[in-house]
Amino acid sequence: MRTILLGPPGAGKGTQAEVIVKEFQIPHISTGDIFRENIKNGTELGKKAQEYMDKGLLVPDELVVAIVEDRLKKEDCKKGFLLDGFPRTLPQAEALDNVLKDMNVTLNKVINIEVAKEKLIQRAVGRRICRQCATAYHVDFNPPEKEGICDKCGGELYQRADDTEETISKRIEVYLKDTKPLIKYYQDQDILVTIDGEKDIKEVSKAVVQTLGGES
Ligand code: ADP
Ligand code: AMP
Repeated sequence: MRTILLGPPGAGKGTQAEVIVKEFQIPHISTGDIFRENIKNGTELGKKAQEYMDKGLLVPDELVVAIVEDRLKKEDCKKGFLLDGFPRTLPQAEALDNVLKDMNVTLNKVINIEVAKEKLIQRAVGRRICRQCATAYHVDFNPPEKEGICDKCGGELYQRADDTEETISKRIEVYLKDTKPLIKYYQDQDILVTIDGEKDIKEVSKAVVQTLGGES
């Protein structure tokens, strides 16, 4: 299974990614997670990315494409992969098509998760992330059993610096301008499926897994 999760910030891509990778046993490639891991480890890449992320802007295409290209060439991607948060611009999508062509593979499906703007802000502002395993929770919609602690690994939960109302509004603006055109790009390739992301997490998961031909 080779697939992409498309959708605005806060739509639920990371949340659904967990279910998909479990069902299909494929690696989860989240460019946002890769950048946050680099920031945590104080790498040069992390320093460069943070300048853009803190402002709600996109990291330049060259940087992101190089990272994804390297990652897709790793052995574990031979069985498939799930891209989450990439591509986010037309040049990224075109670069991905070239990488896949070199690898002699094609995408199976692109899942577009649709959620209204007011809900996106509410979701992002209440989001809490595990410092250790990056699992996302929500203070109201998906709270952990013990406040501030990850159910899965016991790690500490934190609020992302870019999950303020102001930065999330900027990120939505950037999404509308740079990323939304990808819906048509993948519609034209006949591989796009749009899913209502406003239902509760379990219902969205069911629709996503069914669309991808899974069983749970
Ligand atoms: P994305 O990866 O698209 O930015 P996340 O998966 O991190 O989005 O989800 C954003 C926030 O919304 C998280 O706090 C998550 O727990 C919550 N969330 C995800 N899906 C739903 C849903 N269907 N209903 C309510 N809250 C959701
Ligand atoms: P996310 O975790 O997907 O919400 O991404 C957080 C931030 O990381 C974004 O607001 C961007 O600054 C940066 N980022 C993640 N993926 C990409 C991408 N494909 N292209 C450019 N910037 C990205």
